[in-house]
Amino acid sequence: ESQLNPNYSFENFLEGDSNRLARSAGLAVANKPGGTSFNPLLIFGGVGLGKTHLAHAIGVDIKDKYPEKTVLYISAEKFTQQYIDSVKKNNRNDFIHFYQIIDVLIIDDVQFLSGKSGTQDVFFHIFNHLHQNGKQVILTSDKAPVDMQDIEQRLLSRFKWGLSAELQNPDFETRVSILKNKLYRDGVEMPDDIIEFVAKNIKTNVRELEGAIISLIAQSSFNKKEITIDLARQIVEKFVKNTKREVSIDYIQKVVSDYFQMDIDTLQSKTRKRHIVQARQLAMFFAKKFTKASLASIGSQIGKRDHATVLHACKTVDNLSSTDKQFRKYVEDISKKLSV
Ligand code: ADP
Ligand code: MG
Repeated sequence: ESQLNPNYSFENFLEGDSNRLARSAGLAVANKPGGTSFNPLLIFGGVGLGKTHLAHAIGVDIKDKYPEKTVLYISAEKFTQQYIDSVKKNNRNDFIHFYQIIDVLIIDDVQFLSGKSGTQDVFFHIFNHLHQNGKQVILTSDKAPVDMQDIEQRLLSRFKWGLSAELQNPDFETRVSILKNKLYRDGVEMPDDIIEFVAKNIKTNVRELEGAIISLIAQSSFNKKEITIDLARQIVEKFVKNTKREVSIDYIQKVVSDYFQMDIDTLQSKTRKRHIVQARQLAMFFAKKFTKASLASIGSQIGKRDHATVLHACKTVDNLSSTDKQFRKYVEDISKKLSV
């Protein structure tokens, strides 16, 4: 049993700038498992960006092209559990042997191995054996190897032997094509403007993107309502609210500078021009409000100012928004943009 899900195919894994490298490395590996320098192939990226899907797609494709090869997909969590059981039952060697005769081993979410030195140790030996014998290893992780914590150095260095390919947030066009493909496969029709509305508003997680479309379809058929932009808006709002997102200081600077139609360099510059100073102060105020960064860190990221300047900016924004109507509107507008 390979544990592969045939729906997670390459065909269904829509290509975009955000995944092109990882996807094509995956295809290369699937064409010549163990025969490329991408060994191991490590796919990393945030939640819901397609790591599991892509890992399966490689396995599914290999099974298609090389039916005689043994391919195994397993989560790092399950692998760990199996290892612990084998130790309890005194058959650790059987466990190792089982893994050493696999042709293509896919381990999902290897960050789960952090701090688990016994499992890391056994995986190290299995990895070396497979690699020496020209077998293919495919790993996924929520972080790049350099950012992984509590993983032994010798294992990390193995992770870096092959290729680490990142899955990034898909851009708008890719999000639209992912949705269209899903709707097509499910045999559901939906107006383009609604698909685009959803794709525009859910940006950082493909699973949520699909989830929003699924609830939209469910809601409309359950309540026998037409799928309208209003219904889409309600659903998207729920999705966006439920995902606690930490806005970054970079993002705040971008939103504020876009709002005032200046670029970020201008916002950060040393000029004393009033409207620029105000934009900078607003960026500092929102950084204080929406992030956990210290005043000093906010200052250093927004034009290399000190913490006293940031404190002063926050007070100024508070004062101005209670005395100046125009300024209060700025605060409200930007606040809305940041909390969408
Ligand atoms: P991860 O393992 O990174 O958390 P998944 O592989 O579980 O993410 O992907 C979440 C969902 O998004 C799955 O339903 C998957 O099919 C879908 N998905 C992600 N990327 C793509 C893509 N490029 N094309 C089509 N579907 C995608
Ligand atoms: Mg996954």
